[in-house]
Amino acid sequence: MPPRVNATWDRGPKTSGILGWVDYHRFARDMNLDWQVCSRARLSRDARFDGKFFIGVIGSGVYCRPISPAPTAKEKNVRYFPSAAAAAESGFRPCLRCRPESSPGTPAWLGTSNTVSRALRLIGESGLEDGGVEVLAERLGVGSRHLRRLFLRHLGATPIAVAQTRRLHFAKKLIDETSLPMSQIALASGFGCVRRFNAGIRKVYHRTPTQIRSLARQTDAQPGNQYLFRLQFRPPYHWNGMLAFLAARATPGVEAVEGGSYRRSISLNGRDGYFEVSLDERRDALVVRIQFGDPLSLFFMIERIRAMFDLNADWAAIVQSLRTDSVLARRVEADPGLRVPGCWNGFELATRAILGQQITVKGATALAGRMVSSFGKPFSGATGLTHLFPPPEVLADAKLSSIGLPGKRAATIRALARAVCDGQIRFEGIVESDAFLNQLRNISGIGKWTAQYVAMRALGEPDAFPSGDLGLLRTSGVVSSSELERRAEAWRPWRAYAAMYLWNMASESRVRGSRLVCSKTHKPTVERITSPQNVSVVV
Ligand SMILES: [Zn+2]
Repeated sequence: MPPRVNATWDRGPKTSGILGWVDYHRFARDMNLDWQVCSRARLSRDARFDGKFFIGVIGSGVYCRPISPAPTAKEKNVRYFPSAAAAAESGFRPCLRCRPESSPGTPAWLGTSNTVSRALRLIGESGLEDGGVEVLAERLGVGSRHLRRLFLRHLGATPIAVAQTRRLHFAKKLIDETSLPMSQIALASGFGCVRRFNAGIRKVYHRTPTQIRSLARQTDAQPGNQYLFRLQFRPPYHWNGMLAFLAARATPGVEAVEGGSYRRSISLNGRDGYFEVSLDERRDALVVRIQFGDPLSLFFMIERIRAMFDLNADWAAIVQSLRTDSVLARRVEADPGLRVPGCWNGFELATRAILGQQITVKGATALAGRMVSSFGKPFSGATGLTHLFPPPEVLADAKLSSIGLPGKRAATIRALARAVCDGQIRFEGIVESDAFLNQLRNISGIGKWTAQYVAMRALGEPDAFPSGDLGLLRTSGVVSSSELERRAEAWRPWRAYAAMYLWNMASESRVRGSRLVCSKTHKPTVERITSPQNVSVVV
């Protein structure tokens, strides 16, 4: 069926009473929801739009994803919403077939509203449990009414509705994908008690949690304390590029990349475990297997893993900026969907960045391995994983010279660890990235490169850019970081993705031209830097 074309871009179909207080036309216009684009995406079940909008179907009263396998409703019977919460607020129930709770998350960069992006990050980390909207608004430095207005404009729902929908979706995911007892799901999804959980699920799904579970048709039962989740993304996703980046930097004993999957040991709230991530290409999803003793931490863990693998990224938006550069355009065309790898733990990532200052990736990885075997807690239970990364309390007083770390760098790591122990630096709940990075740079030995690298991988800032990086300078053929910064203006607000492509190109040209480079130059400094990727940094 060909998409219906309408002369007015933001004109939606006829509204009906189900929308309640929402003025559909104003709503669609304010949120830049382009009805024609939504309509085409819906009719072609375009996975690139999954999670960017939801479809309410009048008659059935459910809301669906753009990839819904359900029979295609007539255009006059559908409404488009920029978030699941907005569809729920308008009285639609989540579809049991296409499972809106499994859709990729809201893109990180919502138009010009940085405040909404930050608020979503904070809600993702801890919900609205600690203080509600007032406290959230205060942390963001805006009034709660203004925050509410921003949410309505960009997401079509209030902060409370967004937090509630996320909680409900996570509960549904646990019902469908795990065999956890309902009492534990009630707690893990933040309902507090079974009674509220049962009532909440029944109200929305018109079924009991047990009835929903029997519909889910779980095939493979998981052993105790093991959980299997499918986390979806908007294609394309360059999984091999992600794995190659992580493999080159995998800390021996803590992380392992083999057989197409990534595995690492983890420690959280005094418990140890591990998780493993691989690709399910057919379903546009990553498969995550978690072994951990406390199901109450699952929400946090899933959010962290989603961030680590950059699952919220919206390739369609990113590619528009990168295409404007002739060099990047070719790479983007050849290898679409490269993501910015995040991290499991901000302190660990920052420590790794300091270890990597002015040496090769290979050298830094070897140092990290020695640090872990000397100071990390032994771990067993998963192939290739022998230790947990040492926490700040251990590294604050560690004699790091014993692993061959230069004195200055050892002092920087100890100072960072002490600042984290004292509570001066916190990697969680960051509201203002710039303020956090300035704090980080107050530590002697942490300069602009390290701060930008941390912003890119620990804070998930899509526009972070370590312009002083030697690998980036070489690949882009410019001589100074200021020249590179000027060129990178065109890549905003996606400079972190441009950096990933440039590093990717650097590692490929190294493989092709390594012999030539070695035979031409005999200077020890150049030989030491065998990989131009993210090395030899001026801090
Ligand atoms: Zn559906």
